[in-house]
Amino acid sequence: MGEDVDPEAVADNLAALANPLRIRILLALAETRRPSWDHRGMSYSDLRSAVDVEDGGRFNYHVNELRDQFVRGEEGRYWLTTAGSRVVDEVYARTFSGSHEPISGPVDWTCPADEEQLEATVEDGIITVSCPNHGVLFDMTLSFNAYRDRDLDELFAWANRRALWYLESVSWDVCPHCSGHLGGPNLAARRPESDAGVETLPGDTSTLVMAGTYCRECGVSFRIPAFFYALTRPPAVAFLHDHGIDYRTLELEYGSTSWDFESEELDDGVLVRLAIGDERLEIELDGALDTRSYRRAPLTEGE
Ligand SMILES: [Zn+2]
Ligand SMILES: [Zn+2]
Repeated sequence: MGEDVDPEAVADNLAALANPLRIRILLALAETRRPSWDHRGMSYSDLRSAVDVEDGGRFNYHVNELRDQFVRGEEGRYWLTTAGSRVVDEVYARTFSGSHEPISGPVDWTCPADEEQLEATVEDGIITVSCPNHGVLFDMTLSFNAYRDRDLDELFAWANRRALWYLESVSWDVCPHCSGHLGGPNLAARRPESDAGVETLPGDTSTLVMAGTYCRECGVSFRIPAFFYALTRPPAVAFLHDHGIDYRTLELEYGSTSWDFESEELDDGVLVRLAIGDERLEIELDGALDTRSYRRAPLTEGE
């Protein structure tokens, strides 16, 4: 995992950032992204006046320290490399300077199992939402910028969107942390002892099939109910839509009370049944969790 990462080279590159003037140079160059994301860069004199450095030798020295890795220059113009742009994004996201003061309080959601009001805590960039009886139901990383001018309900709603985005990314075989390829997936029927929290999902979780996978680059592993993968598939998105549920607003981790579901492990895949109102959708996923087949039928049929 990550065998081709050279810690010496990374340390050298990061050392080039460790200077306030160089950070100001990166931020000044990022200003050229304002009119268009496809930024064209800045002339030497504009850049120098933007960071307001009298001493030309000192300015050149610091620009040169950033060159190649974070800044590129040609014919008297300078622009950010992708790495330089990413550093600026993280600077603006307050990743290196964000607040570590925890905030907590009740949110406008209730536990699907016992209807207790949920409590949220945001600390060190992680939102944790818990039920007084069931413990932690949900957690997700947030940018420090997300805290600014948003209350806990808004943060929880955003964290849910982010969980959905994580799921989409994993179901496209892209690690949401580093964009590496994922291994697996391995399907396994639920082991109840290791799944505290899953019991609060609505529907029949006695047959819950979990899909485990891990990133081949950064090693992060994911264990996600196979049911969630089925939700991202077009037949499920359409089914939800036809029953008045917008897929993009799903609250995944602690469930919705508006449907029932079950999942069943097959020899070479998983069968997911989703029921809303008087209709049922069955989706069969193969061992790679791709859609093999689906059918919709009135609930009364074959009951
Ligand atoms: Zn609860
Ligand atoms: Zn990864």
